[in-house]
Amino acid sequence: MQTHMSNFAITHSQAWLTAMFENAASAVFVFDTQAKLLACNPACCDLLDRSCDQLVGLELRLLKDSRVSQAVEQVLQGESVSLELDYQFTLNDRRLPLSFEFHPVRDRGELLGGIGLIENLSEKQEALSSNQRQIEFEKLVANISKRLVNASSDELDQTIDLVMAQLGHFFDVDRCYVFQYDSAGIEFSNTHEWCAESIESKMAVRQNLARSDFPWIHTQIMMQRPVNIPSVADLEDSVASERDVLLAQGVQSLLAIPMIEHGKLVGLLGIDSVRQPYTWVQDKITLLEVVAESISNALMRRSFEQALSRINQQYQQFSSQVPLGLYTLRVDAEQQAHYEYCNKQFLAMNGVNSAADLLNRKPIHPDDLADFQERQQFAWKAHKAFVWEGRYFLDDKVRWMRMEDSEPTQAENGDWIWSGFQQDITDRKQLEERLKELATVDDMTQLWNRRYFMLACDEEFERAQRYDNQFSFLMLDADHFKSVNDNYGHAAGDAVLVNLAKVLSDSVRKVDVVGRLGGEEFAILLPNTPESEAQLLAERIRHSVENYPADYKGQTLPITISIGISSYRSNDQDLDQVIQRADKALYQAKNQGRNRCVVAS
Ligand code: GH3
Ligand code: MG
Ligand code: MG
Repeated sequence: MQTHMSNFAITHSQAWLTAMFENAASAVFVFDTQAKLLACNPACCDLLDRSCDQLVGLELRLLKDSRVSQAVEQVLQGESVSLELDYQFTLNDRRLPLSFEFHPVRDRGELLGGIGLIENLSEKQEALSSNQRQIEFEKLVANISKRLVNASSDELDQTIDLVMAQLGHFFDVDRCYVFQYDSAGIEFSNTHEWCAESIESKMAVRQNLARSDFPWIHTQIMMQRPVNIPSVADLEDSVASERDVLLAQGVQSLLAIPMIEHGKLVGLLGIDSVRQPYTWVQDKITLLEVVAESISNALMRRSFEQALSRINQQYQQFSSQVPLGLYTLRVDAEQQAHYEYCNKQFLAMNGVNSAADLLNRKPIHPDDLADFQERQQFAWKAHKAFVWEGRYFLDDKVRWMRMEDSEPTQAENGDWIWSGFQQDITDRKQLEERLKELATVDDMTQLWNRRYFMLACDEEFERAQRYDNQFSFLMLDADHFKSVNDNYGHAAGDAVLVNLAKVLSDSVRKVDVVGRLGGEEFAILLPNTPESEAQLLAERIRHSVENYPADYKGQTLPITISIGISSYRSNDQDLDQVIQRADKALYQAKNQGRNRCVVAS
């Protein structure tokens, strides 16, 4: 390079070199062995803010900055020197970061002086520092977001105050604050505020402001756009009322960023500059929008938590006062159950002190225990609703209880959860019992109930004795009925019984009396019927039952019955003897394989 340049200088006109010198973007100057400035280019004059005349002839050794004069000294010793420094100008107050590069200039070995190149570093430094600031700000925003996410409801106000202070310090502004809207979105109030030292708080006067008093600002906020006012004083007259309110509060520049949550405006994040105007650039606004979003998320989360805790309180109150035992029961895949929740009433009804005792120690009456377990097991296996009415035996007293829960929901881990209630229905049951005593018909099947049926049989027996009449008696029992309940549920079992009752009624003659003795046991009184005829009738009934199965929710549920047949004998002392013979015959029918009729021997 050096050689090329030398050749160029020798072989070309001075005009080329002069043009290069004059037009170079870098500041260049040359000095002689006395360190006296011989020439400088226009870029040099610009940078040093002097005219060429002022500079040429300047004695570089006499410069105030000793580092430069020292460097010049070294160059004149034949060394190249480079240095970076904050250069303080003597004539004015200017101070600039500059880099100097000095090289000695020789002609055929003889030192002629030196050349100096100067570069202004301030723009480079500015770009570097603004980049660093942006990175610092990004870090701050990340830190703020983390703080807000982790803040508990109790700490949130304190955390937001802290965030306001962090932003204020970072940007060296005067006020950072949060406004929140009321639930109707009509008024807004300053809820959090940070002020720089010696800056007056405006929180007290910024309460319950009507949105309609700030129409221009709010139109932008509603459109989810930040409001960026670099100079409040320059706002147009069309927004004079808003301008005047801000000016009266000493605000020179304002930035307001909407806080939106699920599309609903919840508040705004505001920054005031009071002492001097402040111009916000888009990079910063974008990150401040992230801060605003973190604040609104945290505020929303808190208000949900508060609402939830209110509902919870109300529920607790309700659950402690209602005259019902309330529970939530969780059953896992192995049919292991535990009560997730129950109220005090539920514990008291079951005679225990803790939920842990509930599963094993339900004080169910021994006579009703099998029925309870059967229904519960079915509900647990089939994931169905569970309803049970039965007796408890607690503190030497019998009490009627009703348990009822809705269809279960399935938890994430596959467990099933039933929620329901238990009610003491003893009073209702007693009333029902009294009414039943007066009733003649079985509720479910609409057949004669046991009590009425037996009265009819008594009368028939008396008539038979008095007039030496004939009558027969059929005792019927559904075969393997338990398996219907087990396989299809109790409701299906009920439907089968209702259908069975109908088939029985349809298969007999008008004069015959059909009764439900209880459960899946029925009986038919056949007046004026000898044994042989009764046998034919019984066979017809058995056949009908077999051929007309119940239809339950689109499913056909077949059933068979066994029948014991007995007829009145003139030496019978009472009705019981007739019934007992039928019972025995029924027992034989079951033993012989079911679905058959057996005549009493
Ligand atoms: P078997 O052939 O020996 O008579 O067998 P089974 O299963 O019919 O006999 P068991 O007496 O052991 O069972 C009768 C079942 O009938 C038990 C009981 O839960 C059920 N049951 C009794 N009354 C009702 C009712 O009103 N509705 C329903 N769904 N089931 C009932
Ligand atoms: Mg049976
Ligand atoms: Mg039975």
